[in-house]
Amino acid sequence: MMWHIVSIIFGAIVGSFLNVCIFRLPKEESIIWPGSHCPHCKRPIKFYDNIPVVSYALLRGKCRYCKGPISIQYPLIEGITALGSLILFMKFGPSLSFLIYFAFVAALIVVTVIDLYHQIIPDVISLPGVGVGLLASLVLPQLTFFDSLIGFLLGGGSLFLVATLYHWVFKREGMGGGDVKLLAMIGAFLGWKAVILTILLGSLVGSITGIIIMVLKGKDFKYAIPFGPFLSLGAVIALFFETEIINWYLYLNR
Ligand SMILES: [Zn+2]
Repeated sequence: MMWHIVSIIFGAIVGSFLNVCIFRLPKEESIIWPGSHCPHCKRPIKFYDNIPVVSYALLRGKCRYCKGPISIQYPLIEGITALGSLILFMKFGPSLSFLIYFAFVAALIVVTVIDLYHQIIPDVISLPGVGVGLLASLVLPQLTFFDSLIGFLLGGGSLFLVATLYHWVFKREGMGGGDVKLLAMIGAFLGWKAVILTILLGSLVGSITGIIIMVLKGKDFKYAIPFGPFLSLGAVIALFFETEIINWYLYLNR
């Protein structure tokens, strides 16, 4: 129980750092310097006003000095990361697997929010991610290096093929190169079976969401919705339920 609480606090602190990445990576600013400051009055935020979730609640979402609003995104990301840390800890326990998959999920959280805001997926996350994923397979008991390598090639290759075909048929960009590199990273971390599952789940949820948006807003297919969040969601589902989903599929097709 003690360690569960530690994993929640650990997740919330990392979530606080993820917020910094989300705001600064698209602007290509340093994620280390300078420290956090209020976007309104530019005053540096004191450590006691920077406690994940708690400070936001105590300050009621306003800057201590100028009372300017603090984005709800801060406690939201901190909370989601804390929850992710707890769930991963419950699945993997105190292990290297926990740390590796937590880093993976943290990267997906940053990718999702940046893609929602800016329709880009920073290479500075996905490209090192591929390397970390391939290296991780050397120590992860759940994943062989071969599985990771095929996952990387399949993830990068298949989406590259789809993106090229789409561009050739519709004469415009449908899926960005960022999605291709993201799926290559997902493949390196999760292996080839999970990458297929990620594409299927991501496309399914993405299409349903796209249709709902089109119906509600009356927009057509030219209104491209970012694919990164759906790939990330698919990857998280695949990480937790890969075996269950594959067994269920085999059971239906026996
Ligand atoms: Zn302020």
